[in-house]
Amino acid sequence: ENTVHIIGGGLAGSEAAWQLARAGVSVVLHEMRGVQGTDAHHTDALAELVCSNSFRSDDPEHNAVGLIHAEMRRMESLIMRCADGARVPAGSALAVDRDAFADAVTAAIAAEPLIELRRERVDAPDPDWRHVIIATGPLTATPLANWIAARTGQDALAFFDAIAPIVHFDSIDMETAWYQSRWDKGDTKDYINCPMDKAEYEAFIDAMLAGEKTVFKEWEANTPYFDGCMPIEVMAERGRNTPRFGPMKPVGLTNPATGRRAWAVVQLRQDNALGTLWNIVGFQTKLKHAEQVRVFRMIPGLQNAEFARLGGLHRNTFIKSPVLLDETLRLKAEPRIRFAGQITGCEGYVESAAVGLFAGRAAAAEVAGRTLTPPPPTTALGALLTHITGGARADSFQPMNVNFGLFPPIDGVGTGRKAKGDRKAGLAARAVTDLGNWLGA
Ligand code: FAD
Repeated sequence: ENTVHIIGGGLAGSEAAWQLARAGVSVVLHEMRGVQGTDAHHTDALAELVCSNSFRSDDPEHNAVGLIHAEMRRMESLIMRCADGARVPAGSALAVDRDAFADAVTAAIAAEPLIELRRERVDAPDPDWRHVIIATGPLTATPLANWIAARTGQDALAFFDAIAPIVHFDSIDMETAWYQSRWDKGDTKDYINCPMDKAEYEAFIDAMLAGEKTVFKEWEANTPYFDGCMPIEVMAERGRNTPRFGPMKPVGLTNPATGRRAWAVVQLRQDNALGTLWNIVGFQTKLKHAEQVRVFRMIPGLQNAEFARLGGLHRNTFIKSPVLLDETLRLKAEPRIRFAGQITGCEGYVESAAVGLFAGRAAAAEVAGRTLTPPPPTTALGALLTHITGGARADSFQPMNVNFGLFPPIDGVGTGRKAKGDRKAGLAARAVTDLGNWLGA
């Protein structure tokens, strides 16, 4: 039968259900809240915002989040319609009254005759369901998480993210930094190295130790750091020289400016196929975002760094989408199963809803016997989907916000330069045209 079963009535699941109903497809939406809660949700409302009440920038010309808002509005997004209706003043950002927002989503879903809402926890998709969307989010209930792990392989499902900051390539000072792989193994262009002398290293360690950190939520605190995921500042707390024997080790690297080994080296590794984004290796951190910008700009070569994503460490559930999913978000090994929302490795309310929107449309096309071609990577939605389903490095895959660094650059113009409003406007204008063409096709 042609009913689509959606597991999880959060940001992604609600949007996917709405898109399917708009396309005339019947949906069963399975949501466990009402029967069982999560550690972060407080209500039974669909699409509850678990933390901030902000959908971030609403500027479609200079900000990729604002652009994806505009794209979603063009695609009749329920989440955007309810957010616009519940808007509270927040300058150029879109912030909402969280209760009014979630109540509006819940009411719209309840009023939609093609959607049946079932308050139940799903531990495994029924074998008879032909079309399934798993949209259970960062706090997916354990039995279903175990089912997913069994399908995808244990190391393909993470229960914690360990996010290292990502820098726009063209904001790195390549006069100071240089390309080299440790001991010259592998491709020389695999790593970018930033050197530190002893004084710079000591000042950097002091800054990290003094920097303000975010604290773990009570229910997160028991999760031990697993191997390779210790925050860089915690490493420094264990010993001032510990980072210098860990991610900041200088051995096997020669600074061409001095012809010598540096006291310490910070390495960056290419993060996306486009080569526009580079992550700082081993620098997952609980430092507050503003502190990260200040402290990490102390790294020689990164003094003007612009960050596409700042670091973090949270309880999260996400799969290794770049290897597991096809371009319409189906599990390659079991195509009746599609994923949507934060569990795909996007990050944020808006991104989760956007991925839900595409999942709903792709499932609707499938029910109609068609295959939906994803929007082009020059659009905000297309850029995000391309990253998740293949553009990102699979071995170090971590959750990602939408940002202009995910877009193919225009004519070799970089992606991260400050005060280049016209460059961002150029990317945004191209996106508007290309989304229109895609929607028309
Ligand atoms: P959710 O909105 O969490 O929806 C998933 C739904 O699935 C939930 O309703 C859950 O009850 C249900 N569910 C889970 N397992 C099952 C099951 N087995 N059967 C049936 N139902 C199930 N993003 C931001 O942009 N800003 C923030 O401030 C922010 N703060 C966050 C704070 C915390 C503590 C967490 C965990 C995440 C935060 N996020 C934030 C990240 C993320 O964008 C949101 O969590 C977002 O809600 C994800 O959307 P989603 O639809 O993928 O998942």
